Amino acid sequence: SDVNGNQAPETSENEVWRKDGDKVDLAEQSLLNKIIRRSLVRNRNQVEVLQRDPSSPLYSVKTFEELRLKPELLKGVYNMGFNRPSRIQENALPMMLAQPPQNLIAQSQSGTGKTAAFSLAMLSHVNTANKWTQCLCIVPTYELALQIGQVIEQMGKFCPDVKMAYAIRGNRMERGTKLQEQIVIGTPGTVLDWCTKYRHIDPKKISMFVLDEADVMIATQGHRDQSIRIHRMLTKDCQMLLFSATFEDSVWRFAEQVVPDPNIIRLKREEETLDTIKQFYVLCKEKEDKFTALCDLYGCLTIAQAMIFCHTRKMASWLTTNLIKEGHQVALLSGEMTVEQRAAVIERYRNGKEKVLVTTNVCSRGIDVEQVSLVVNFDLPMDMDGNADNETYLHRIGRTGRFGKRGFAVNMVDSKHSMDIINQIEMHFNRRIKKLDMSNLDEIE
Ligand code: ADP
Repeated sequence: SDVNGNQAPETSENEVWRKDGDKVDLAEQSLLNKIIRRSLVRNRNQVEVLQRDPSSPLYSVKTFEELRLKPELLKGVYNMGFNRPSRIQENALPMMLAQPPQNLIAQSQSGTGKTAAFSLAMLSHVNTANKWTQCLCIVPTYELALQIGQVIEQMGKFCPDVKMAYAIRGNRMERGTKLQEQIVIGTPGTVLDWCTKYRHIDPKKISMFVLDEADVMIATQGHRDQSIRIHRMLTKDCQMLLFSATFEDSVWRFAEQVVPDPNIIRLKREEETLDTIKQFYVLCKEKEDKFTALCDLYGCLTIAQAMIFCHTRKMASWLTTNLIKEGHQVALLSGEMTVEQRAAVIERYRNGKEKVLVTTNVCSRGIDVEQVSLVVNFDLPMDMDGNADNETYLHRIGRTGRFGKRGFAVNMVDSKHSMDIINQIEMHFNRRIKKLDMSNLDEIE
């Protein structure tokens, strides 16, 4: 139970055990992204738009004015500091606001403006004269619901007649009480109960249905089934909008089930490359030796910021303790921290308060590596069979965009096995990883 006495949502089924023994909770990862995203993610990639009706003119907007929003809503948008629509908003907003209503499936990485887009669509859609629920938005967890609610509240600040409610566990009303709030955000289980058992919401009166974080949603069988049951109660005239950060086949199959005749907008993730990175390895005997090498390296380089990856939480905390003893300002990101604690550490690191961040792999998402000039694989990334984990390697040290800043990656090699991994990585990416001579560190700069 949280401070409000609300039951925590069942996220446990979303947990995936990663190779390095740390748990990733997809919903938590998503929440973390939301907490630390204060600004839009830059993205140079083109938006792919697939129109349901190719004969109707495709239109996109470059300004919020072109959307002909209610003045008080436009004021809310500008009040949030938004000057112009983001890449996906340029296309998604006109589609979501079109008459007659259009269905939409939209996929783009987190931080590209999806939440802001559908929040705006819901606020614009509401008929304030009607005191019943018209827009229904479902998300995987209670915390994610609150995040969206905050956006709606901020954006709708000058629309006092638009009301919103949370359909989350712990929010209780007498059976049969009809909600007057036009917008409801909730988790699938509670929304389903409110539509069926408690009859707080009449699903036949819902005219806009938003399913956010579809990829996280379907990772839990229960959520997936509940979402489909809610969807079945809606009328065929209800506008369906589905959002996802990723788009594997399973998400796609689910999306097609929930969104008939969709328009589709996709923003490809920028590809990461190793082109702007100089890669090295250092031969060491054991962890103390690796530690010494790390300190030497750090002492010799003019480094903006460094990120150091360890295999286990235990190693990460050992390393942090020892780096602090050496007088370094170090932050530690570790799996047992709460989302808020992790967000705070990432925030401080991003603002340059700490120059070194020690982390296990699962924690590193959400950190922009562009500003990190040195990445150290204190332990090399490998899969459960002990083979090189190329994908993780690329994700740790790769940069996006051709003009990404230059950087160094140093791999600590302490056994024949880890040398094999370096060779595998070299082969896979067809890029040389040079041996670093610790007595002559000039060559790296
Ligand atoms: P997503 O849902 O895709 O993760 P969000 O809608 O949460 O993305 O947006 C990410 C961040 O960018 C948020 O801090 C949000 O306030 C901001 N943002 C969204 N749209 C705009 C815009 N048009 N202009 C400026 N900032 C924006």
